[in-house]
Parts: sequence; C-alpha cells; structure tokens
Amino acid sequence: MTMFPGRTFRYLFLVVALVSPVFGAGSPAPRISLFVDASETPRKIFHARMTIPAKPGTLTLFYPKWIPGEHGPTGPIEDLAGLKFTANGHALPWRRDLLDGWTFHVEVPAGASSVETSLDFISPAGREGIYTGGATATDRMAVLNWNAMLLYPAGWTSDELTYGASLRLPAGWKFGTSLPVASQSGDEIKFAPVSLTTLIDAPVITGQYLKVVPLNAVQTPPVEMDIAADSAAALEAPADVWEHYKNLVAQASALFGAQHYRDYHFLYSLSDHVAHFGLEHHESNDSRLGERALVDPEQRLLGSGLLSHEYVHSWNGKYRRPADLATPDYEKPMQTDLLWVYEGLTDYLGEILTGRDGERTPEQFRDSLADTAADLDHRSGRAWRNLQDTADGVPSMQGAPPQWESWRRPLDYYDEDELNWLWADTIIRQQTHGQKSLDDFCRAFHGAPGGTPQVKTYTFEDILSTLNQVAAYDWRGFWIERLTDHGPEAPLGGIDDSGWKLVYDETRSEWVRARESDKASVNAKYSIGLLLKSDGLITDTVEGMPAAKAGIGPGMKVMAVNGRKFSPTVLRDALREGKNSSSALELLVENTEYYKTFKLDYHDGEKYPHLVRDESKPDLLTDIIKPR
Ligand SMILES: [Zn+2]
Repeated sequence: MTMFPGRTFRYLFLVVALVSPVFGAGSPAPRISLFVDASETPRKIFHARMTIPAKPGTLTLFYPKWIPGEHGPTGPIEDLAGLKFTANGHALPWRRDLLDGWTFHVEVPAGASSVETSLDFISPAGREGIYTGGATATDRMAVLNWNAMLLYPAGWTSDELTYGASLRLPAGWKFGTSLPVASQSGDEIKFAPVSLTTLIDAPVITGQYLKVVPLNAVQTPPVEMDIAADSAAALEAPADVWEHYKNLVAQASALFGAQHYRDYHFLYSLSDHVAHFGLEHHESNDSRLGERALVDPEQRLLGSGLLSHEYVHSWNGKYRRPADLATPDYEKPMQTDLLWVYEGLTDYLGEILTGRDGERTPEQFRDSLADTAADLDHRSGRAWRNLQDTADGVPSMQGAPPQWESWRRPLDYYDEDELNWLWADTIIRQQTHGQKSLDDFCRAFHGAPGGTPQVKTYTFEDILSTLNQVAAYDWRGFWIERLTDHGPEAPLGGIDDSGWKLVYDETRSEWVRARESDKASVNAKYSIGLLLKSDGLITDTVEGMPAAKAGIGPGMKVMAVNGRKFSPTVLRDALREGKNSSSALELLVENTEYYKTFKLDYHDGEKYPHLVRDESKPDLLTDIIKPR
C-alpha cells in the first residue's frame, strides 16, 4: 500500500466476532456463484447477487473487513446497502451482529439448500474514503474490488471457499485483470472459478478508454499495463514513459531473480475523481493517480515510484509475508509489527528502482531522498514514539489527518525505514568489501524457485538469519536500535556511508518545487517549522521550531507577513530578507475567527534539503541506483 493525501477518518471498533458456522468440520467447502452488475458505474452503484449453499439454521456471513495490504479493519461496510436474502422465493430475516458490524446472521428455513443474496456497493460519490472503500468510479472508468461486493460464509478459510464470478460492464467498456477469464459474451464476462483469496486479490479495471501496454515482449511470465483514464488524451504518454516501465520489469527481474505470478497486470487509474493510492496484489496492483500523471512532466515526476513500490510488493508483502499478517480470512485481525519490512523495505526497493529504470534521473532520486531525510530529521514525534510503535499502531490510526503529522508521525515505518534499509545496504557493502549488497538479500529472501502465487511467511528471526547469510554483522543490535531509537535526528547513517551528506540551502530542488506546486503548499518546515497551503492555512507545525515555539499551530491561517498580505512569495521574501535584519518576522494569524500577531526571532533564511557529495568516501549511492 501507498497512501496519498485526501483521506478521512474511519473509526475502529474493537470487537469479538461471534462465529457459529453452519457447516461442521468435514463438510465440503461451498462453491458460491457471484454476479456483479457494473452497468450503472457512472451512478457509482454496483449490484451483486450471490447463491450461497446453506443448511436450515443460522447462517453467519461476513463482509470482508481486514483487507490485505490495507493494514486495518477498512472493509467499506458503510457502503454496503440493499442487502436482501431469500430462499425458495421467500425473504429471510437477518440481523447484524451486535459486536461486529461486518457480520450478519441469516435464518435459513427448513427445506432450503441455498440462500440467494443480493447487495449493492454504493461507491463514494466524492473524493472521500480510502483504499478499496475510496472513490472508485467516474463517468468513464472504474476499478472493481471484489471484497466490496460480496459476503462469505463463516466456517472456512478464504483458501477453501470457491467463487465463480461473472461481471456485466457498461456497454462497450474494455477491461483488464489478472483473474482468468473463462468466456466473454458482449459486455458480460465469466471468470474461471477461483478461491476467495484469489478473487479478492484480483481486482478488475474497466473503462471507455482503456489502453493495454505489454511491458515485456520476450520474457515470460507476461507483464502488461492496463490503464483506464477519464480521457483518451491522458493515455497518450511520451515513448520514454513506456520504456521506463519496461525497464522496471526487467530491473525487478534482475533484482529478485524469479517471479511469483502467472502473469502480472499493472491496473493503473488516471482520474482526478477517484481516491489516489496504490494497493498491492500478487499478480496485479491497483494504482490510482491524477488524470495527467502520464503526460504532465511534473505529475510524472511526482508519480514516479508508485508503480515500482506496488510491483515490489508482489515479492515483498504478497509472496514473502510476515507470519502474523497472513490471516486465514478477512475477519481475523492482522498484527502489523513487521510492517517495517513489508512496507519499509518495499519503499526502499521501489525508490531505488526508479533510478535503475530511468523514471528518475540520479539528481531527482537524490532530491527525493534528501526531502525524505529532511522531513524525518524534523520529526518531533520521535521523542514520544519509536519507529516500532508506528508499525504496531497503524490499524487504529488509518486515515489520520495531515494536521499534526510531525508530532503524530503516523506512518514513519515507510519513509524512515527507507533510510534504515539504505543503511543496511551500505553495511552489507562495507562488510563484504563491495562483493555483496542488499540485492543479494533480495535474491535469497524473495527469489527462486518462483512460479504460481503462494505465501511464504517469515518472522523477525528469518530476516536476521538471511541478512547474516549475506554478511555477518550484529543485525539484531542494528534493527533493535533503529526500531527503538528516540533520536532526535533521523537515521542518516546510510546517506553518510554511501558518500553523501544532507545539507540545506536557499534553493528549492525540482522535487520540492513540484511537491509544493502539486499540493498548493509552501514548505517552510526546515526554516521556521511551518507547512502551509498556498492560501496561508497551516497544515503542520514542527514542535520545538520557531513557529511552534511562538504559539502557532495547525489549523491557523497566516494572513500577513511583516504587514503585507500573505502569499508564498511574500513569505519566502521575508525569510530571505530576515537574514540581514534584526527585526523579528511578524506573522498575522487568524485562529477560529480571532486575529493575533506572532513575532518569530528567526534570521537563518530559507532552508531546502539537498544531498552533496562527501569526497572522503566512495560513492555507493550512485552504484545503488545504476541499472543492473
Ligand atoms: Zn506498500
């Protein structure tokens, strides 16, 4: 998973599921037929019908709750509507479980052998919601996630249950998916029966404008990109875009040495009206960015790294998975303590692949790394919570707002672990005198023999033992320190040991400028500790830095700087001019309808991060992002 801003709160209910399976041990697992009618996609309503084998008595059904890759109980239950059960033509009474809102109990009458179930998935009509519960449909395209459109019976694992799915699309729309197709007639597709695990792991992208781009003409297994957009123009990317993604497939193959999919589909949505995120699957990824993500140079730069991150997950997260994230169904809670491997290592590998495949130039790669390092170097929340806690706590922090991010530090197991895995990479190189690198770890841990999708679980001890096979070192001590350290500085050992230094100057890098432009924001975090929208609204303050110390906080709005109406340029000019002045920086701020002037005794100018070469050390970073 990769999160993009624009998410809303979702409440976590701590519950105990009361499960009363109808089928006893030894009964054959039911085969369920599922028909989804997506012909009303532009209205954002999807109709599903299921035939579920049943016996007289209470039938307990679950709506999928813990969705793989979402790391929390995020199954979009609030978007389930129109629920109806019948048997032999008669409506059946049902009741939701009082302790778990995702569980339903249906009374099956004598003489019935199956229950006809119908339900609607009402997809968000705005941009609210996250992941598979986020906005998913527009006038011209949609992504269908099966977990949002079905129920499953208690008593079996998701591997044991078989679903035969079929789908009706809007007239004339095309589709892409890793789910094997049995037959197609007009706008109706019948898929081969698969386990519930495989079905939920195989979303379908569909649209009026759908472009299919093969990404490996000669190698097997085949890899393709299936892109749906809100316009045909959004699909007309320059040739180098496709070259970079072909390189990504080749470079990932060189990194891991084997694949764990039959074929692979990048399902890529380009729309300003769907939720923006990436969600990994074994044989596909569901990645969603703005409509112009392939054709606008700035959007291309900012979007680089999303597809490589999600692709890496096929190996790290889907094939190799922390044992306590590999649950038997979607009801049992997941434990997220090893997300610093699942997401942190994926983040590192996804980033370095953007250098190896050409998505980013070496300078763009370094600017992005510098931005990540600088952000974490101003992470006040490290004082109260360590990195391990950011992973442990995520199921209960899904959708935290951007305000107070530095003090809350909700998802640092992504970015901070990018720095930690870089550090681990440099240690392996030093310990083996350049003979080995983290690539060797990946080949040993994620590689051969390859083949069809399977899950091979691991523990912390397995990580340590594979690292030690590659290069003997005190890895236990290294990771415990990294996971429990309280800073205050970011873990910059990997940048330092790879021959570079994090510095600040007054020039915004192309990366920082693009980020500011995309988010209509002003990044003054590293000077006065403020992150603002371009209208002056304060998104975040960094505890301990001048703005916070003066009494300014998130949610306030800067109206004027040194007596002049606020604009990003006025603020930047004032920060620069403050270097040659003994006067305080004066910010007129509105807070809940009250105005107040804050004086910041700050004279160090603008500060933006960069990496500069440390000539006293070998340049490992350049080697790390060289194509293999
Ligand atoms: Zn991820």
